[in-house]
Amino acid sequence: MLSIHTTTQESGIVFDKQTYIPPRNINQYSFSNHFKSRLLNPHRYISINTVDKTIENGEIRYNTSDGWRFFRTIDGVGEIVIVGNIEGGDKPVLITGYSKIVDYNNAKQSTRWSDRSLNIIHLTTVLANEDSIKITDIIEETTLNKPFYIEGHKVRIPESHNVMVCTDCGLEATDKNELENNRCSTIRCWNQ
Ligand SMILES: [Zn+2]
Repeated sequence: MLSIHTTTQESGIVFDKQTYIPPRNINQYSFSNHFKSRLLNPHRYISINTVDKTIENGEIRYNTSDGWRFFRTIDGVGEIVIVGNIEGGDKPVLITGYSKIVDYNNAKQSTRWSDRSLNIIHLTTVLANEDSIKITDIIEETTLNKPFYIEGHKVRIPESHNVMVCTDCGLEATDKNELENNRCSTIRCWNQ
């Protein structure tokens, strides 16, 4: 099982967050299977080249939930790379990476990101824990501008990309938990 070891955790301490600094060279890492699958998924908008630059030049931060992360903004879109260690491994590990819209107006103005790309980046961020087949289905529906069902709501992504709006009950949600925690107030009748 994949886990991050730091001095904040009980046993098997490998990285000391006070003294350890993850290397800035991608060649010094091994890749988790999860990370490899992310690199192959076109909907994640990360590649070996972008991850390489993020590790080399990005800001580096530590937090207790993720461990070490590198962060870089590319024309309004952030790339986040999380690194850690696997027990018994002799190299630090690239655990996961993802893109996230950090400045929508900046991203929209950039020629690097199409509307479709921004839509997909937004979706993969808010649906982070969905399996990739479902994400692909949802992306196809939103490309056709069709609402999709999630957590009982009938959801559309407005132009601003910063929320999801239920076309049945009007709920505006920024992530899937909000949809889950607020039941759709529309009761669908079997006869309609
Ligand atoms: Zn609803």
